[in-house]
Amino acid sequence: MSDRLLDIQSLSSGYANVPVVRDINLHVDAGEVVALLGPNGAGKTTTLLTVSGLLKVLDGSVNVLGEPTSFGTPHKTARLGLAHVPEDRSLFFGLTVRENLRLGLRGNRAQQSAGYDRALELLPALQPLMDRRAGLLSGGEQQMLAMARALVSQPKLLLVDEMSLGLAPIIVERLLPIVRDIANETGAGVLIVEQHVHLALDVCDRAYVMSHGEIVLEGSAAELKDRPDLLEASYLGGEISA
Ligand code: ATP
Repeated sequence: MSDRLLDIQSLSSGYANVPVVRDINLHVDAGEVVALLGPNGAGKTTTLLTVSGLLKVLDGSVNVLGEPTSFGTPHKTARLGLAHVPEDRSLFFGLTVRENLRLGLRGNRAQQSAGYDRALELLPALQPLMDRRAGLLSGGEQQMLAMARALVSQPKLLLVDEMSLGLAPIIVERLLPIVRDIANETGAGVLIVEQHVHLALDVCDRAYVMSHGEIVLEGSAAELKDRPDLLEASYLGGEISA
């Protein structure tokens, strides 16, 4: 398989056949962390849901791990090696940390054991919490658990929607580098949606900025950090001229 893990070409998608994301192109290669930025309502979550097969491709194409994304059967995409940490984290609050992690396991016994160990190596703060119910964890601990549950499946492509939602900036500063470690240590591609633009640019390789359903700016993290004026204009919906 090539290094291109996610390839989105001229994608339009949305709700009830009405596109809210229009004509976007985006890719993620192996070992890359890519940030999807933009103001509220820009279409970032819609894009991730379409990649996972939870929303229909209305036009264009989405290729995940070498295959077209399959709408309505996200388990097929998961079997290929995609893991999605959704905005609401989707944890089972009545189950323990250990039980939540078990729900993410894939493959045979050896693969499951390797996935479990790797996830806890990357997120060791969960070790002492294994028998605690997810509902009793702090926001940051819940986010770590959501990440770990995605990681136990040893994903090749990881989507993380708003890891920082509801968390103090100091916790976000601690959590975001974990996605960098995941990409570096496992070779997975990671696509993160993030509101903390500058923290995201510190850990990602490249970023796309969406506004009103379209990609209005893209570049390497270094390029975008050097041009805060362009970034600001893209968020405010102003004219972008390099
Ligand atoms: P945020 O940063 O606030 O999470 P976002 O960039 O992720 O925003 P989306 O959640 O993708 O934006 O929403 C894009 C557009 O689609 C918005 O105008 C939103 O109101 C609309 N939308 C989202 N969910 C639905 C839905 N279930 N039905 C109809 N429209 C929706």
